[in-house]
Amino acid sequence: MTRFAVEQLLAARTSATDEGAIGRMAQRSRDLRAKGEDIVSLTLGEPDFDTPLHIQDAATAAMRAGFTHYSPVPGLPELRQALARKFKNENGLDYDPSQISVGNGAKQVIVNAVMSLVEPGDEVIMLAPFWVSYAITVKLAGGTPVILPAGVEEGYKTPAARIAAALTPRTKLLMLNSPCNPTGALWSESELAEIARLVADHPRLLVLSDEIYEYIVFDGQAHSFAALPGMIERTITVNGFSKGFAMTGWRLGYAGAPAAITRAMTVMQSNNTAGVNPFVQRAGIVAIEGPRDEVQRMRERYRARRDMVLAALRAMPGVRIGDIPATFYAFPDVSEALGRKAGNHVLDTSDRLCDWLLEEHGVATVPGTAFGAPNSIRLSFAASEADIEKALARLAKAFASLS
Ligand code: PLP
Repeated sequence: MTRFAVEQLLAARTSATDEGAIGRMAQRSRDLRAKGEDIVSLTLGEPDFDTPLHIQDAATAAMRAGFTHYSPVPGLPELRQALARKFKNENGLDYDPSQISVGNGAKQVIVNAVMSLVEPGDEVIMLAPFWVSYAITVKLAGGTPVILPAGVEEGYKTPAARIAAALTPRTKLLMLNSPCNPTGALWSESELAEIARLVADHPRLLVLSDEIYEYIVFDGQAHSFAALPGMIERTITVNGFSKGFAMTGWRLGYAGAPAAITRAMTVMQSNNTAGVNPFVQRAGIVAIEGPRDEVQRMRERYRARRDMVLAALRAMPGVRIGDIPATFYAFPDVSEALGRKAGNHVLDTSDRLCDWLLEEHGVATVPGTAFGAPNSIRLSFAASEADIEKALARLAKAFASLS
């Protein structure tokens, strides 16, 4: 009798995804630590700060006040109203509360949007380096990611002309992420305006603008794509509480979009998780409308770490890095180090380089392959200053040792 192989029953779409390089590297560093190894991990894109206390208190009070029942799927009306005010005052965007939907993290909101828009055969433009989940989500929807890379010398920002050349009648969506994970790049208003001109000229192109790092900007200013003339009709503006408010575990994200898209996104969500936990939503109102001192304090800590990381990386042989105007990531180009020898091994890919940094030098980073940029590696400086200092000293020693 042949052996029953349950793997053969898995749907084909399960192979469009894997657990992801970030999760894999984070897990490997936990495993090595459990064996007693001294590992510093710079893998996770998660603030090392706890959620500000006044936001935690708001959740407790809301729970006590009875916000423990099902929520309307697109979110509590009072949160959608608060978000409409936020969009207006901070981003110059006029969304009616009915155009705003609240999901379990920006991640779910992005899945809702992609599932609502992308069909088999549709092409979705990704400006590489890009956040890992974009390509996976598009593939799950049956769409085709069209990856347009930009290098460190271009500030990791794909020029508009390269986008124009990639547009076809099948192009449906362009994923924009400014400030960007993994590079920390920030698009200026004029760079966004060049993209807006392409969108205006292309009859069926929409933009998903993921603005989740808007509160972690050190130099310059974050701009909402939808604020450009004519673009509010063509844009899904995604945002969330995880990064700026240090609320990763709470799972709270939102989007403003044309009404028909918001309705479709709500239908997608109603059939999987339904509405977000209501006491989390009540705390979200306090986060958005309450004091922002903690948000600023965290940003200044990231800025000081950014300065430390940039100074150290710039002194390392084989490492190239531009500015990091925003976010808590550094994405050095390591192509000069690739192909060099560490003892008897040749480090010919960023995956091998990251394995070697972890196993031989005790620093966990993420290979750029995961972000559509195989010649780079990502370091997160959402880690304590002591850990960052230790990691940088180890990286300096590692890169200096290559022959
Ligand atoms: N978008 C980007 C660019 C991210 O880096 C992340 C998280 O790493 C998300 C969205 C998802 O955030 P959330 O925790 O709100 O799901």
